[in-house]
Amino acid sequence: MTCHTKYTRALTFENLCQGVLNMQNLWSFKVNLPMGHRDGYSLYLKPSGITLNNPAIYILESPENQKLIDALRQHFTRLNILSGLAPELASATANNSLYIEVMLAKFHAEAPSAPPPSPSNQSGSEDCHVPFASDSCGAYALGDLEELSPLVPWRRIFGAIHDECKELEGEQANCLNSLLGGVHNIIPTKSSYFMRISKAMERKSFTLNSGKVLSGPSAWSSYLRTRILYDVSTLLPQPFLEANFDLDSQISGVENMPPRWQKCVRAVSKSLPYTTNSLYLALHFSPKARGEGEAIVDFIKRSFIKDLRAEEWFDEETRGEALKKAMAMAIHVGSPSEYVALKYDVSAGAYFNNSMNANKAKVLRDLSLLEQVPDRGRWNMQAYAVNAYYDNTVNGVFIPAGLLQPPFFNESAPMEQNFGGFGAIIGHEITHGFDNLGSQFDSDSNVRDWWSPLVAKVLPRFEKSHL
Ligand SMILES: [Zn+2]
Repeated sequence: MTCHTKYTRALTFENLCQGVLNMQNLWSFKVNLPMGHRDGYSLYLKPSGITLNNPAIYILESPENQKLIDALRQHFTRLNILSGLAPELASATANNSLYIEVMLAKFHAEAPSAPPPSPSNQSGSEDCHVPFASDSCGAYALGDLEELSPLVPWRRIFGAIHDECKELEGEQANCLNSLLGGVHNIIPTKSSYFMRISKAMERKSFTLNSGKVLSGPSAWSSYLRTRILYDVSTLLPQPFLEANFDLDSQISGVENMPPRWQKCVRAVSKSLPYTTNSLYLALHFSPKARGEGEAIVDFIKRSFIKDLRAEEWFDEETRGEALKKAMAMAIHVGSPSEYVALKYDVSAGAYFNNSMNANKAKVLRDLSLLEQVPDRGRWNMQAYAVNAYYDNTVNGVFIPAGLLQPPFFNESAPMEQNFGGFGAIIGHEITHGFDNLGSQFDSDSNVRDWWSPLVAKVLPRFEKSHL
């Protein structure tokens, strides 16, 4: 893949606005297994759409915040000029965009207000925050979402995505069938935000601080134009990258532009996950390393279970729950059993289009999970990541092949050395199933606090005295 830009077929503006590509304008979405509901995946809708990710910067007045807002205004103006607008129009577009961002920041920061319009299977009315979504956070059906935010054309948006899927192969062609069919599988992670957006869309005009009155549609279109430019700017020519770097250096103080090769590596691994993961496993992960890793994992899990049996501060009821959970915990080492390649059009010299196509293919594949039976062994990390995680929704530990390399692991080192490095991390991840968050999910990943009141009282003291 060459990392330079030449456009052949740009995706339509409507595609972008409709969120087909999950561009994080106004909201972003993610398909996940909801906690405590193991029978199917849900679509999490999350508030998004502000460039500086802390809403307080937009709202609280201080010289530091003002500096950041000014930097953002300048950046927006620059992006709009680079994209072809005359300076005066670019500046007005930037001001309008910022006006909308400030408004969105207020929605982000707002405490949950009025309850949503009682979706039929919703037992509570509080906002549902991932990863703490609980039983009281029922999922919405499309009709409930439309009721919550009637001015957002949800049905048209999801319908457009569904149409895109029809061109895909196999079960992916059915993406969003269930959602469009009225299944309760949508979870807005802050319902008040979606209600507010819809109310704001109803407004015919906004009055800016300067007293200038701005038409509603023109404010929104300025905002979307700027946000889309911002989102795709990393795929655009050098002047856009330089503008991004200037903003980053004002926000975070970063002094040097990352070298080009890093960007290329990121782009390749993001767009070609099948190839990069398969190559990494073939070249850097031997069957011996996998075997030894699994043996260490097995040993540590058995020792952990032995310790649970012996701990004196447990009452028998909690010990029983903990043992059940430890025995049910699946520990995955290396990689998923297979990778399925993303399929999309690639043409030489079309970096922008290739990247957009890759992103779209990935988003559509993620959405097609909504039609599938949950896979409790599904990985959320690349095989080459030097990392590991515990997933409460499936009671599983995931240890990518990337962790089985020095300094954590060396297949020609003595076993005890690998226990010291790699083993310590496995132990750490296992304990996440039993800590203050893990205590809220039982062995089947149902949301259920299984610590007895006694243990809940003793454990913090126990932890303190052992730190
Ligand atoms: Zn941890």
